[in-house]
Amino acid sequence: MLDEKIEPFFDVVVRRNPGEVEFHQAVREVLESLGPVLAKYPEFTEHRILERICEPERQIIFRVAWQDDAGEVQINRGFRVEFNSALGPYKGGMRFHPSVYLGIVKFLGFEQVFKNSLTGMPIGGGKGGSDFDPKGRSDDEIMRFCQSLMTELFRHIGEYTDVPAGDVGVGTREIGYLFGQYKRITNRYESGVLTGKGTGWGGALVRTEATGYGTVFFVNEMLKARGSSLEGRTCLVSGSGNVAIYAAEKVHQLGGRVVACSDSDGVVHDPEGIDLELLKQVKEIERGRVADYAERRGSATFIPRGNIWDLPCDVALPCATQNELTGKDAATLIRNGCVAVAEGANMPTTPEGVRAFHEAGIAYGPGKAANAGGVATSALEMQQNASRDRWSFAHTEGRLEEIMVDIHQTCHDTAEEFGTPGNYVVGANIAGFIRVARAMVALGLV
Ligand code: GLU
Repeated sequence: MLDEKIEPFFDVVVRRNPGEVEFHQAVREVLESLGPVLAKYPEFTEHRILERICEPERQIIFRVAWQDDAGEVQINRGFRVEFNSALGPYKGGMRFHPSVYLGIVKFLGFEQVFKNSLTGMPIGGGKGGSDFDPKGRSDDEIMRFCQSLMTELFRHIGEYTDVPAGDVGVGTREIGYLFGQYKRITNRYESGVLTGKGTGWGGALVRTEATGYGTVFFVNEMLKARGSSLEGRTCLVSGSGNVAIYAAEKVHQLGGRVVACSDSDGVVHDPEGIDLELLKQVKEIERGRVADYAERRGSATFIPRGNIWDLPCDVALPCATQNELTGKDAATLIRNGCVAVAEGANMPTTPEGVRAFHEAGIAYGPGKAANAGGVATSALEMQQNASRDRWSFAHTEGRLEEIMVDIHQTCHDTAEEFGTPGNYVVGANIAGFIRVARAMVALGLV
């Protein structure tokens, strides 16, 4: 519920950002946690931090014209929302998906501000993307699209200004084409302008694995706090992209078993455990679908248009997209004995789902805490770029694990301090908010 002092702020956000339902949802969830913070720190009200933090510092929307393989001209829309730079340069990914519009970019940018703050690294929050649909596009088309997008975006970014990275539909290949065009236009090998680069040309080891690995480190910490662990646990991982694949890999390394994953066509159920080498071959090399995996794996069945949350599990890791896990799905998971949920995706659980998990006393790790390992490792990439250094896999993974353990501890302790023990949503929102708010007060009215 919204505190009655905060309700009017939320009404203003809805009025000023009409139709942007995902943005409203993300703002409401944070504001619901902040009542006790405003009571404890009156200076935040005096400096009108709530109103300021909900308004992006800058929003850029631009045309992206490009030519497809048939020679037809295509027009897409590009976005970059530079949300908050109190803690460092704007930092956050680019998403290429047909569902992208301003409301999605703003919800992601808003979440990013608090997530980045929670990492403890010197990074502000931003997000971008395009309604471009990469599905079925050739490599040449992807390159021409990326080059056209960067021909506008380059003037807004920079290693001290705004540092984009990947998100849904944007991986190392796309970052390569974007970086190549940035380098050509500016005539600068400015490695730190983008993260998620290839490991042969400035990218950090572990960045590819980081979001998924980090989510699993986080869920393992939540389980440890309850005297348990991932060992022997049956897990569901929705999605089959970069986050899902490496979440599954870390679950297997820590002694659990992932028995299902999914894409927009359906679910693969593999009771013997997902064969990750095969899944990587299908998804990363062949750019195929999970149905292709099921066809080649004797122990797996493909459930067309199935709902992954109907399968029994101990641990659920939503790693696909926003609002993929509803109140009804949460009820099914609880009934089937699920004890922990950690979000590899951004805002995958609806508010009804979150409520159900809290009421059932399930360990629930919200995305802005649980999936912060991706952007934290991006910050480690920026650190390596700035010092022209290159860290080993083991060292970088060790740093990632330390950061995730620290984020878990911070959320855990903050929830306790503010009277809601075990509530990682409140812990993450309050801890993330306080650090940004203090910096905003310190930097004055800018
Ligand atoms: N898109 C990722 C996220 O949601 C990573 C952003 C980054 O590495 O800058 O946090």
